[in-house]
Amino acid sequence: MTLAKPLPPVDAQSRPYWEACNQGRLTLQRCDGCGHVQHYRRIVCTHCGTDKLTDVDASGAGTVRSFTVIRRAVSSAFDANVPYVVALIELAEGPTVMSNLIESPLEAIHIGAPVQLMFERRSEDINVPQFKLREGKS
Ligand SMILES: [Zn+2]
Repeated sequence: MTLAKPLPPVDAQSRPYWEACNQGRLTLQRCDGCGHVQHYRRIVCTHCGTDKLTDVDASGAGTVRSFTVIRRAVSSAFDANVPYVVALIELAEGPTVMSNLIESPLEAIHIGAPVQLMFERRSEDINVPQFKLREGKS
C-alpha cells in the first residue's frame, strides 16, 4: 500500500503562510522594529522580541547550504521519489529553510549552488515550497 504524502497541519498561526503558498508565494516575516527577517512564522521577532512583524514575499532565490541524498524512503509515500534530496537552503533574504531539491540532477548539486523556488501541489489547499537548481549558473 502506498501512503499519500503527509500534509502540514494548518492552524491560525500558519494559515496566512499556507494561503500565500497557494498563490505561489513564499512569505517571510520582517520585523518592523529591527529589520530582522525570519522563517518560519512566529509571534515575535527572534532578534529583538517585538510582535510587530510584517509578511514579505521571498524573492525565491537561494543557495544550497547543505544537503543529503535519501536513497531509502522513510515512508512509502516517498517511494516514487527515491533518490531525493533534503537540503538546507539559505534564502537571499537571510533565513535558512529545510526543503527538497527537485527536478535537479544529483551530480550537479553542491554546497553553494544557486537554487530557485518552486512549488509542489499536494492537495487542493496545500502547495509545498520546494527548490530546484537554477539553470545556467553553478
Ligand atoms: Zn526585531
